[in-house]
This record gives sequence, structure tokens and C-alpha cells, in this order.
Amino acid sequence: MRKRNPGQVCCIVMMVVTLVLVAAPATAVAQEYTTKNLNEQLVMATLWYQASAEMRAISYQSFNLAKMILDQDLAKAGSSLKRAVVVDIDETVLDNSPYEAGIIGNDFGYPKGWKEWIDEASAEALPGSIEFLNYAVAKGVDVFYISNRKVRGQDATIQNLRALGFPQANDAHVLLREKTSDKEPRRQIVRKNHRIVLLMGDNLNDFDSIFRKKGTSDRAAAVDAMKDKFGARFIVLPNPMYGDWEGAAYNFNWKLSPPEKSDARKSKLNRWAME
Ligand SMILES: [Mg+2]
Repeated sequence: MRKRNPGQVCCIVMMVVTLVLVAAPATAVAQEYTTKNLNEQLVMATLWYQASAEMRAISYQSFNLAKMILDQDLAKAGSSLKRAVVVDIDETVLDNSPYEAGIIGNDFGYPKGWKEWIDEASAEALPGSIEFLNYAVAKGVDVFYISNRKVRGQDATIQNLRALGFPQANDAHVLLREKTSDKEPRRQIVRKNHRIVLLMGDNLNDFDSIFRKKGTSDRAAAVDAMKDKFGARFIVLPNPMYGDWEGAAYNFNWKLSPPEKSDARKSKLNRWAME
């Protein structure tokens, strides 16, 4: 066999490399878009929740506003009913962002691991929440925690709240989900013996059932129709990680596949068409 000179060898190697590079895209198997890929979309929201001082500032702002509203109400003559403040738990007084951060990089999402997270009872308090609720109780106001955590998590939830110093963390004041995620029946229980001065939550369902199961634009319209209540009777805390706003983007079809969810999210964006 005739020996090739170095120039010929180099030329052959370059041809082979070129062929491989050209052929590679055609032969590559399309990568499946999985829950792990979708979870990457949680990075910015969770980073903002955990690392932005603005998030802390909004939390303080919310509870400072709550104190102002309560003080205004306390200055008025009371009624025969005792005053109450109603708060949601998750992303209202407790911070579950470590759970959200935990699913990033994994190929699963909620509810996997949520039960174990609750049972660990290690969630931290949101800034300003413990002080405000203790202030309310010191002023003779009752606090009710109405949450859609399942009732099986009652003991761990109470343990978590108590360990942090939240007041009235007991079975009479912590009303978790039994049958329905609609919180109105539980608000009615509170109203039997109390006048609710204000409600705090990160989800519109925490305030009024009128917001339930509504699509994206109908939710916005319902908020517009009740605009005077926000910052007066309702105080919303931010939650960019999850919520009914996300479900609304899927028309509440939570069974969509990861690529369908990603597409549904992007379809809701108001995008400037770049040239
Ligand atoms: Mg919540």
C-alpha cells in the first residue's frame, strides 16, 4: 500500500471531521422536553423570592399596611362580634421556597415531596408576619389561618407555626382543607363569631370565591371590579412561583405535559414582535 504523505493525511482527516459535523444534526435524536426542563423556568421566580431584598421589603410593606388597617379599625367602635384577621399560610406567613428550589434540577414537580416538606415543619416565617399577628392578638383580635394544606398536615403545620412564635397556632384557629379547596365555607365558620377585619394571602382564592376557576382575563376583570378592596380589606403577597394564576394559564388542566405547559405559559405572554 502506497504510503500517504502528511498533506494527504491531513486532508482526509479534515474531510472525515466535516462529514461527521454535517451528518450529526440529521442523526441526533430529538431530546424530550421533560419536567426537569420545565422546572428550569422556576429559577428566576425562586431566586427572586429568596434572594431579592425587594421581596423582603414587599413582605414588610404588606404587614405594615395590615397593621395600619387594623389600627384604623381598632379606633372605631367595636361590634358585638370579636374582630378577626384571616391569613393564608403558604407564601403568606410561611416561606416554602426551599421546596420549590428543591425541585429545580429534578424530573418531578409538586406534589412529590410536598408531604415530606410539610412534615419536616422547617419552613421559615415571611418577614413581618410573626410581629403583626402577635400585635393583633395583643389587641384582642383573633387570628385564623385558612390554608389549603391537607388536613393530614395539621399537627406538623401547627408545630411549624408554634416553633416560629406565631400566635393562636392551634386546632381551633388553623383551618386546613378537608373537602373543598374553596375557602368560603371556612371563612363562614370564622364569621359565625367574628367580624373579619382583613384577609391576607398570595392567591385570590384567599379573599373571595368569586375569583375561583376563572381564566386569565376573567381573573383580571374580577380584580378590577373589586379594586377598592385591595390594600383596604384584602392584602396580597407576591408569589411568582405558583398559584391559580398558573392554573389559569392551563385552563386548570394540570395534566398537560411539560412541553404543553411551557407552550401555554408562553402563549399568555404579551410579546413585542422583534424584527
Ligand atoms: Mg398561599
